[in-house]
Amino acid sequence: MSSRTPLIAGNWKMHKSGTQAIESAERLKTLVNAASGVDIMIAPTFTALFQVGQVLKGSPIALGAQNMHWEQQGAFTGEISADMLVDAGCSQVIIGHSERRQYFGETDETVNRKIKAALQAKLTPVFCIGETESQRLAGETFSVLDKQVRNGLKNFVFNDLGNLIIAYEPVWAIGTGQTATREQAQEAHENIRSLLETIFNKDLAGSTRILYGGSVKPDNVRALMEMPDVDGALVGGASLDPDTFSKLIFFNEN
Ligand code: PEP
Repeated sequence: MSSRTPLIAGNWKMHKSGTQAIESAERLKTLVNAASGVDIMIAPTFTALFQVGQVLKGSPIALGAQNMHWEQQGAFTGEISADMLVDAGCSQVIIGHSERRQYFGETDETVNRKIKAALQAKLTPVFCIGETESQRLAGETFSVLDKQVRNGLKNFVFNDLGNLIIAYEPVWAIGTGQTATREQAQEAHENIRSLLETIFNKDLAGSTRILYGGSVKPDNVRALMEMPDVDGALVGGASLDPDTFSKLIFFNEN
């Protein structure tokens, strides 16, 4: 495990009504009350953000959003700005999740604009990258990650990126039950970290947390977290049940 504080983040995607989200947040708050040495974040759907934020007040659990628009305001029907997320109580935002890239036309360019807008609003971006199965089979994993990182972080200087979090999420592992091996995760994370050093500097590479995402479960989290460049997990399915998610947060005790 690394010296960076681990982060266990839950992406609730398009699940849970407001009432269900509040119930889950309340249960999680109770379960993780004694957690230490680990950061925790949950990202409910937009309509539940404010209410869940009220529940999380005074708890160690940070509130995150699943997406945002890059403009501050304007005629962008259906979109939500970074300032609006801050207003709802968010401190983090997931940007460039593979489902956004796959189904909603997000590109490296829009991801870059969103990261910039998030940082301006003092939101911590959780910047998602990852290769598809066919790209991995074609031996393109590292060139895909290289391109996503370079384009996503284009025109930033290291000073801008002190809060950046990266989530390596191989698309073939998301929601499939097919978790990357811890060696595959470590290899990708190491590669991403050395790329950060090449583009920016050693300090930024050393301080940036790189989460692994893709079918993380209570029975595989510890093995992944033992790897030196795995600084946490971004979790979909296993974050929906607070009891299961809390087992990931207490990964050291499993
Ligand atoms: C995700 O959506 O970011 C994710 C990793 O999902 P799951 O844990 O269900 O694979």
